Amino acid sequence: MAIFFGPKEVKKFLEINKVHKSLGQNFLIDKNVCTKIADFSSYEKGYVIEIGPGLGNLTQFLAKKFEKVITIEIDFRFIPILNKNLKKFNNIKIVNSDALKIDLFDLISKFSNQAKKTSICANLPYSIATLLIIKLLELPVSRITVMIQKELAFRLLSPPGAKLCGAISVPVWFYSTPKLIFNVSRNCFLPIPNVDSCVVSFELNKIENIENKEFLFKISRISFLHRRKTVFNSLSKGLNIPKSKIICALNYLNLDENIRPENLTLSNFLDLSHLLGNFL
Ligand code: SAM
Repeated sequence: MAIFFGPKEVKKFLEINKVHKSLGQNFLIDKNVCTKIADFSSYEKGYVIEIGPGLGNLTQFLAKKFEKVITIEIDFRFIPILNKNLKKFNNIKIVNSDALKIDLFDLISKFSNQAKKTSICANLPYSIATLLIIKLLELPVSRITVMIQKELAFRLLSPPGAKLCGAISVPVWFYSTPKLIFNVSRNCFLPIPNVDSCVVSFELNKIENIENKEFLFKISRISFLHRRKTVFNSLSKGLNIPKSKIICALNYLNLDENIRPENLTLSNFLDLSHLLGNFL
């Protein structure tokens, strides 16, 4: 039987081991939350990739729901614990690697195949959540379910043009439709983090193969660099395009010359990237 690391076991682990705060090592100690995440993420069986198994609490629930679990952990100290504790499962592959550096496309094609649907499920470390989510959204997977800190969740759930949106909203809503699944109290983790969390799922959109998607994301990053500045000021400086040309593009799109980045919708960003691409 695999051990579930509840409050007692995690406290014992923490007495002997120091956690790396920079790696977001807050362990989920609530069985109900693990069950709910595994149930939700496994609506299609098949393969799942987990990022950051830690002590393996969520991993063991995923192993009961999916045909195969490939779990990637950066901290080598967890590998022997995972190997020992999860050995009764013959469908878990533990990889000691950095999820930001590993070639996830290659991993998926090696362990999965066309016939098998692959999902992603993770309690993401805060420090890399933003970067990793963009990377995950580019993968050929059927569903992504992640637990992230509440503030980041609210930002991602806000489409471009909504009050809380930010630069990341553009790639997130370009690739997917994010949905809030449920909230998780900070008391479900040890050590207790400073903020609550949310489980968010990303239903992937059918993407037209737009050539200048990197340029689209660049425009959103530059526009939001100075939230209080007008879009034409930021873009003209950031892209080194004369202000007159940016104003011309905004006029052509019937957008106010003094528009701020949080007022641009995804389709505005797409139109702008098409037009401005011609000036480069
Ligand atoms: N899944 C476990 C749970 O729910 O209790 C642990 C989650 S904890 C929030 C994040 C985990 O991600 C830690 O185990 C940490 O070591 C790991 N991690 C941090 N950065 C990583 C990276 N770049 N690649 C892979 N794992 C990483």
